[in-house]
Amino acid sequence: MSDVLLTIEKLSVMYGDFIAVEEASLTVDEGQIVSLIGLNGAGKTTLMSAVMGLHKPASGKVVFNGKDITSAHTDRIVAQGLSLIPQGGRCFNRMSVQDNLLMGSFPKTARKGAKETLAHIYELFPVLKEKMRDPAGSLSGGQRQMVAIGRALMARPKCLIFDEISLGLSPAVIKDIYHRIRTINELDKTAVILIEQDTRRALRMSDSFYVMLKGRTVLSGKSDEVDAETLKDAYFGI
Ligand code: ATP
Repeated sequence: MSDVLLTIEKLSVMYGDFIAVEEASLTVDEGQIVSLIGLNGAGKTTLMSAVMGLHKPASGKVVFNGKDITSAHTDRIVAQGLSLIPQGGRCFNRMSVQDNLLMGSFPKTARKGAKETLAHIYELFPVLKEKMRDPAGSLSGGQRQMVAIGRALMARPKCLIFDEISLGLSPAVIKDIYHRIRTINELDKTAVILIEQDTRRALRMSDSFYVMLKGRTVLSGKSDEVDAETLKDAYFGI
């Protein structure tokens, strides 16, 4: 049996009076890939933002690596080993690729081995080594996503959350990035949460899955065991 790394327990998040996430629950084991799927506006991003301390949950609990991190400061959460790669990657465009990457090594635990981690990231993404002195803004969309992934890796995460990494990228680039995500998972045993709209890709990549609908986690299971009809009903709320 694997050890549980992240537990989200009945988490609710409000935007004013609007309940964006309602008692959502999710578990990630160490080294596991979990996909979180659902329609636009289902609450996937809000749920993960709340886990990262970017929104204060109205109720519920988040435990990571044995520690209660509910409503903790994002810096502390990252230092504990949980990182999020936001939609669109988001780089500091005027800064060089290398400086963007180094920004990610702010946790004390990560600073010590920053040089080795940087070398590891350049091995994973050789194109970033080639362009290490170029401003991040001069890179292609896919390469900027790689910078964002690399920056998150600099914090030496135990779990990485990818928020719709494929958004706006070409199929070939998406394939390449997913291939590297798998390498990161296999080499470093980093657990992964994939927020995805492409259900088929998400299931292919992951060990287990969760479906969100109208703020709730309505279905979960092993990715290779789910029945297409059951999944469709949960996804669309039929
Ligand atoms: P997408 O795939 O479009 O990112 P999602 O599943 O991640 O969708 P969220 O972005 O978490 O969904 O949105 C959940 C709900 O909360 C939606 O109804 C959305 O309109 C609403 N919402 C999101 N952000 C805010 C905000 N800052 N203020 C008010 N409502 C918001």
